[in-house]
Amino acid sequence: MYKDFGVHMKGGVITERDPDQCTVRIRLPAGKISVDQLRGIARIAKKYGVGIVHCTTRQTLEIPHIQPSLLGRIERALVKNQTPVGSERDEVVNIIACPGTERCKFANIDTISLAQKLDARLFGKEMPVKIRIAISGCPNACTSPMLNEIGIMGRVRPVRTPGLCTGCGTCVEYCKENAIQIKNGVSVLDPKKCVQCGVCIHSCPFNIIQAEHRHYLILVGGRRGRHPHIGRDLITVEREEQVVSVVEKIITWVYRRAWSGRLLSEQMDDLQFEIFKKEISKGLL
Ligand code: SF4
Ligand code: SF4
Ligand code: SF4
Repeated sequence: MYKDFGVHMKGGVITERDPDQCTVRIRLPAGKISVDQLRGIARIAKKYGVGIVHCTTRQTLEIPHIQPSLLGRIERALVKNQTPVGSERDEVVNIIACPGTERCKFANIDTISLAQKLDARLFGKEMPVKIRIAISGCPNACTSPMLNEIGIMGRVRPVRTPGLCTGCGTCVEYCKENAIQIKNGVSVLDPKKCVQCGVCIHSCPFNIIQAEHRHYLILVGGRRGRHPHIGRDLITVEREEQVVSVVEKIITWVYRRAWSGRLLSEQMDDLQFEIFKKEISKGLL
């Protein structure tokens, strides 16, 4: 007989308005799921629920209207389907990511692979506060990384090859930030206006604008909800393994210092963010 190892206590099991029913949320990094897993979830929802699956704002799926007595069996079925029960309490919850370089023409980084690596190391870790992680492949910020406790954004710096610009103005048309002007017959970039999206790099018909310093911007302390708050810039790094290392350092820093019962965005100064910001780059490979 299957033994229940505390599935009732998992964050991914959410009590419903009717306290005799619960919803089971699934662990699904970057919202990526195979069609076979999707079929499996449909079968499980039909067998143990009422044949309904709900898509959440954090790119995962949840199965509503489950009888608590069936939780052990549904947990086992979800593990077998390789879509285990997720998390939703004060822990690292489902990590979200935009399509990134896998599909989006604007992307500067591989968001999905990064989400999967972070998930493998950090998902479900119990924390004093809820930690939401969101990754976007460019400053269009489709997953709103700045409104999550930890946000990651792929950027790139455009550099014009000196002396070759024809002044055709194509890049000026493409830049939504009005960061490029034609002066004396050549394009001139205003770095203060540039958000490092990289669109102009692909727009130049003469391939004159080059990509330099492709990097990840990491932000901390954002939030959505009742009082939305923009996260603070922490650091930029150039390699995926550095992102993983920095995010692990943030998690350790929050785990050791943060108080429960208060949102991370409200205690950033108490947590000595500025000192942490100075120290974070030490020891990075
Ligand atoms: S954030 Fe950028 S890379 Fe990601 S989906 Fe949106 S436009 Fe594409
Ligand atoms: S990188 Fe983006 S914001 Fe910067 S100049 Fe090019 S198009 Fe404009
Ligand atoms: S698109 Fe290329 S050639 Fe045309 S103005 Fe811009 S940098 Fe110069």
